Amino acid sequence: MDDGWWCITENRKGGCQMVIATDDLEVACPECERAGEIEGSPCPACGGKGVILTAQGNTLLDFIQKHLNK
Ligand SMILES: [Zn+2]
Repeated sequence: MDDGWWCITENRKGGCQMVIATDDLEVACPECERAGEIEGSPCPACGGKGVILTAQGNTLLDFIQKHLNK
């Protein structure tokens, strides 16, 4: 993930079968511009993450949670 790409499914050879750029999933927070805080306090708009989920990011998150919360 450090290189900005997400490997969704790994095949047996260790390669990716599906790859999503993290830029498609999250964007820089417009309030703090990735700082994650404003004047020393956690940014309320992004919860201190510095980024906010896009619609596609929310879709993926919902998908993952659906399968994690069995
Ligand atoms: Zn923010």
